[in-house]
Amino acid sequence: MTYLDAAAAIVGPTQILTGEALAPWRRDWTGQYLSDPAGLVRPGSTAEVSALLALASRHGQAIVPVSGATGLTGGAVAGPEAVLLSTERLSTIRSISAAERTAEVEAGVVLSTLHAAAEEEGLLYPVTFGARGSARIGGLLATNAGGSNVLAYGNTRDTCLGIEAVLPDGRVLSLMSALHKDNSGLNLRHLMIGSEGQLGIITAAVLKLVPAPRIRATAMLAPRDLAAALTLLNRLQDETGGKVVACEYMPDIYIAGHLRYVAGAREPFGQRHAHNVMIELASPSAADAAPGEDGQPRLSAQLEALLAGALEEGLILDATIAQSEAQRAEMWARRESAAELTFARRPFVDCDIAVPLAQVAAFLQLIRQRVRALVPGAEDMVVAHLGDGNIHYTIYPGEAGLAQAAELRALVDGTAVELGGSFSAEHGIGLSKLPAMRAVKDPVAVETMRAIKAALDPAGLLNAGKTIP
Ligand SMILES: Cc1cc2nc3c(=O)[nH]c(=O)nc-3n(C[C@H](O)[C@H](O)[C@H](O)COP(=O)(O)OP(=O)(O)OC[C@H]3O[C@@H](n4cnc5c(N)ncnc54)[C@H](O)[C@@H]3O)c2cc1C
Repeated sequence: MTYLDAAAAIVGPTQILTGEALAPWRRDWTGQYLSDPAGLVRPGSTAEVSALLALASRHGQAIVPVSGATGLTGGAVAGPEAVLLSTERLSTIRSISAAERTAEVEAGVVLSTLHAAAEEEGLLYPVTFGARGSARIGGLLATNAGGSNVLAYGNTRDTCLGIEAVLPDGRVLSLMSALHKDNSGLNLRHLMIGSEGQLGIITAAVLKLVPAPRIRATAMLAPRDLAAALTLLNRLQDETGGKVVACEYMPDIYIAGHLRYVAGAREPFGQRHAHNVMIELASPSAADAAPGEDGQPRLSAQLEALLAGALEEGLILDATIAQSEAQRAEMWARRESAAELTFARRPFVDCDIAVPLAQVAAFLQLIRQRVRALVPGAEDMVVAHLGDGNIHYTIYPGEAGLAQAAELRALVDGTAVELGGSFSAEHGIGLSKLPAMRAVKDPVAVETMRAIKAALDPAGLLNAGKTIP
């Protein structure tokens, strides 16, 4: 009996997909990685995931977990030897506790579904990014996703209190705690978060919620340069008591790309500026939302006053504050078109790196010189979560320059590390960052990862060939 035949007895034959039915999983979101799995299995409970992994262990069957399939590093692609295990049917929000401000959710819950459910309780699940309509909690946890609100609320890791995962041999690791303090031994929850399906399949989690903002004040700014942007960010944090929740960088090439590739796109300002930053302040406080003497909410008035001062001082050259939800949505849509406009041109070499906040400008200057020295005529695209130093840097080397894709990637990764940064900020390792793991990650760290992988998955059946070289 094949693995898929035996799996059908666990999940029912309709939950096994093969052949034509696998079409949606054959190509990843970026179109860079192709899959050709033997099949896809859709368990409906933790018990079924457990039975499927125990079965895989007995059959020596390679398994690749997949949640929303929006990952950008090739982490969920599968070859013909592997079976995809989808979490999509684990889609229950088991409970939301308004009193404790927590949500207990299954791994297949779509991020935007959790956002909506939290909002109904006057709460917010703060991790957010452009793929929120498809990405699922299991994928967020497996990649420790970041997004646009990291400077205020942290990465997915920082929002997770408890986790449930099925180990490669089928045992269920149950750490579904809602505790904020629990120092009972090694922190296996944090080991599972960001492990990209190497150590187990995450089936459920307890997540922290925060009070929903009553007021948001959003603006597009044109800082004089990136140093001025950082000065202003720190000032806004200081003056508002840390209410900046997003600080997103879009240089002129990004604005040009947005206008070129996204229907209905508009210039942020009357004239084009070299540096453009979208900033958002948010507050759950009724006092911040209440109208002041000029009739506008106090937080908006405070932002306006601070930006007026920054304009006078020359820190910024231009600013537009959203006056309506529609204007705010337009600002966010501009930023969240990043993946669409970046991948509209091909071929590309996409990189996701982090550097210390004060090194963003140095990184961009250095990498452009180095890229053009290697591939003359290469173009690039930049968009950054400026508030946490995360730069999405994409190179368009042209068909001829594509032969140097590996060198270009190594150049970007190496330059980030040289400036005290990381070659992987928020998208994880998957397949695309394996060369950097080999080349620049501390060798003792890699050996330790291998030892942990071997201890939990001695046969190497779970998401083999990725993440840990
Ligand atoms: C338009 C767009 C915008 C994006 N913006 C951001 C952003 O701002 N910040 C950011 O961090 N990411 C971003 N991403 C990347 C991606 O959305 C995130 O990495 C997301 O967390 C992946 O979730 P997913 O459910 O799609 O996971 P998948 O793509 O299905 O899987 C990702 C990895 O996790 C593993 N995995 C999946 N589910 C499980 C599970 N239950 N247990 C164990 N392993 C599992 C897979 O094997 C794979 O290695 C963006 C992607 C797109 C397409």
